[in-house]
Amino acid sequence: MSFSVNRVLVIGLGLIGGSLAKALKNKRFGYIQAYDRDSEELQQGVDLGVIDEACSSLEDGVKTADIIVLAVPVKATEAVLKAIQPHLRENTIITDVGSTKGNVISAAKSVFGQVPPTFIPGHPIAGSEKSGVAAADEQLFYKHKVIITPLESSDPIATQTVARMWQFTGAEVLQMGVSRHDEVLAATSHLPHILAFSLVDTLAKEQDSTEIFRYAAGGFRDFTRIAASDPTMWHDVCLANKAEILNQIDNFSQGLAQLREAIENENTPAMLGVFTRAKAAREHFS
Ligand code: NAD
Repeated sequence: MSFSVNRVLVIGLGLIGGSLAKALKNKRFGYIQAYDRDSEELQQGVDLGVIDEACSSLEDGVKTADIIVLAVPVKATEAVLKAIQPHLRENTIITDVGSTKGNVISAAKSVFGQVPPTFIPGHPIAGSEKSGVAAADEQLFYKHKVIITPLESSDPIATQTVARMWQFTGAEVLQMGVSRHDEVLAATSHLPHILAFSLVDTLAKEQDSTEIFRYAAGGFRDFTRIAASDPTMWHDVCLANKAEILNQIDNFSQGLAQLREAIENENTPAMLGVFTRAKAAREHFS
């Protein structure tokens, strides 16, 4: 197949969709259109110069798009694919930005019967605890990684085109299998978010929580920044990647229980073992 990219349609003009749209518009990747079910977000996108045009209907945008980027919450993927299907042209490339990939593949299979060769799932490993187009930042993906998870049946030119789109934002594009993606991200992103939410919630329930938070220093702030992330988005991620997340929680709980035991028994070698290994590992990747 051959593809030309003139028109990009971003569906879901929030933090990620808006940041991508803004970066692509500034780098003149193509003519950037967007559709969002929230017309205020869309209008704000025009006012802030994030997009070239707001589509008044999904159908209008889909009919003329060369690349469609789904930047909606992962739970909305299937409904959006269903809504765009009747209006798709043959060679339109579809990609997404969802934090989980197995459920996106299942959604595509359920809507199209099989994953179309022009559907190339993706996930930018960049973001923030903010939401909405007002927080859109064209530098968000610069020097960050973007994982794309093409299948064996994926069209190589479509894969290259999606990779090239992300490279326009300054991102480094990597390819990974769908299950491996969900396994790795459960460990590196989903578990830390769950720990941050749980820690802050546990402390907030304490009677003197105001006092505790007043004296929270840099370490606590660094560790818990992501607990300010969007609750609905994280609810969706937990359900979409449930099995891998439960594995990671079990794994972590085991480690925490061992550390608890070491502290209770004043087992210095065990405690120092954990802290020393963790320090070395952290210094290695920073
Ligand atoms: P956001 O809330 O800022 O934006 C989502 C937008 O989608 C909103 O404007 C909303 O109105 C719109 N929307 C929701 N359902 C819709 C529908 N059915 N049709 C049309 N528009 C719809 O959220 P975000 O942080 O930009 O997250 C979007 C996606 O990006 C999610 O799938 C998330 O997993 C992924 N992601 C987020 C981050 C992050 O740090 N926030 C990082 C990487 C990937």
